Amino acid sequence: MPHAVTAPTLRTLAVAGRDERFPVNRIFCVGRNYAAHAREMGADPDREPPFFFMKPAQAAVDASAPVAIPYPPKTAKLHHEIELVVAIGEGGADIVAADALRHVYGYAVGLDMTRRDLQLAARDKGRPWEFGKSFALSAPIGAIRRAQDIGHPNSAAITLTVNGQPRQASNIDQLIWSVAECIAVLSAYDALEPGDLIMTGTPEGVNAVVAGDVMAGAIAGLSGITVSVAR
Ligand code: MN
Repeated sequence: MPHAVTAPTLRTLAVAGRDERFPVNRIFCVGRNYAAHAREMGADPDREPPFFFMKPAQAAVDASAPVAIPYPPKTAKLHHEIELVVAIGEGGADIVAADALRHVYGYAVGLDMTRRDLQLAARDKGRPWEFGKSFALSAPIGAIRRAQDIGHPNSAAITLTVNGQPRQASNIDQLIWSVAECIAVLSAYDALEPGDLIMTGTPEGVNAVVAGDVMAGAIAGLSGITVSVAR
């Protein structure tokens, strides 16, 4: 049956060392999942339940090779947030944490690019974060490494440099809510589906980038990314 209008393009991500690609369904993002970042955002880093927001699949950018993203409109404060990305391979509802990791297809390095001025203006008015977080091409993500190849990392250095200068440096063992716990909470509210991505939150050191800047993100054991902001 023909579509009534032009159908959207399926976004896909590279899988390290393989020809098949990962089809992107939804992108869930965890807010304030590192205590030091929660503090720099003016929040109490106590272990309150994790909260989530979303980006559209159209936010995903294949960053398996160096890539440029445009500087988005309507912002003067585009921030980088380096994050561990979880790729869901098997869906499910009400997944218990002890069983959660078998739903994971693999892991990648990603950037939750944020129009911070718009996000904070919305937050301070009690409005949704969409314009601050959910814009096109706001989630560059590197090649996915399969859990069946590398296991499930729970301690690994996570870093971001801009033009070679350190900006963010932490370890994924500092996550307030683990990957398994995030899957358990999310799947209690909405059934997870194959192709879903979970961006697990960023450590401290978020800051602005401008046109021409080059961001290099890495998590030990995963494929690093190089993302520039187009001039
Ligand atoms: Mn984030």
